[in-house]
Amino acid sequence: MIQMNNVVKKYPNGVVAANGISIDIKQGEFVYVVGPSGAGKSTFIKLMYREEKPTSGDVIIAGTNLSKLKNRQVPFLRRQLGVVFQDFKLLPRLTVYENVAFALEVIEEHPKKIRNRVMEVLELVGLKHKVRMFPSELSGGEQQRVSIARSIVNTPKVVIADEPTGNLDPETSWEIMNIFEEINARGTTIVMATHNREIVNTIRKRVIAIEGGMIVRDIFGGDYGYEG
Ligand code: ADP
Ligand code: ADP
Repeated sequence: MIQMNNVVKKYPNGVVAANGISIDIKQGEFVYVVGPSGAGKSTFIKLMYREEKPTSGDVIIAGTNLSKLKNRQVPFLRRQLGVVFQDFKLLPRLTVYENVAFALEVIEEHPKKIRNRVMEVLELVGLKHKVRMFPSELSGGEQQRVSIARSIVNTPKVVIADEPTGNLDPETSWEIMNIFEEINARGTTIVMATHNREIVNTIRKRVIAIEGGMIVRDIFGGDYGYEG
């Protein structure tokens, strides 16, 4: 589902944030990406949704080589792939419903289908009763639920999350993890960068550890593995 072959990413300032990364993530896997601050986790994730392009090497998502993707084809990629951020990135002037429906409206899905699908994903994340609220009226955990609903509304094959519990208290973080587990149980591949040691050590999944732009550890059912 996700392949990287010898990927190097050198930023214009000379920092090498990915230094020869090769990886193969199969359909349906749940993968944590861990490592110290500045290790290259976000870069690794950004390469997957083509927020950044590799300096060399190939990134292949669901059979599409991103290096060969034309800019105008990027929206098609984004439909195969949901993204969830630490800071939610909801549109503040749109309601919960509108934030989630947006991705379907841009592809001109039938209005009735949009309504059914939006309510379905909002039910999955437990927010059906707040469809008319605006993001500012929601707690952080609720905003992240909306953002997860938005990420899956297109039924992508892969959901990529960069520190999705980074702004949430521990209890809320566990609730958010339950939702990701449920999405994964339905067959969606999940790749999640995280600093949450307790979660990684409790809900055991494949752990890819990155340091200095390189994969230093890749273990199924591994632990968080860093001190402090
Ligand atoms: P992490 O997510 O593990 O904290 P990042 O991928 O954000 O790591 O960063 C890896 C390295 O690349 C760091 O040294 C960081 O300062 C650098 N970096 C990240 N983004 C950019 C950028 N847009 N331009 C220049 N350097 C960057
Ligand atoms: P948490 O328990 O995660 O800290 P909050 O205390 O922020 O959550 O919110 C508790 C409940 O109150 C949530 O259901 C949220 O939707 C609602 N709420 C919070 N702020 C507002 C607001 N400004 N207007 C309306 N409802 C709000």
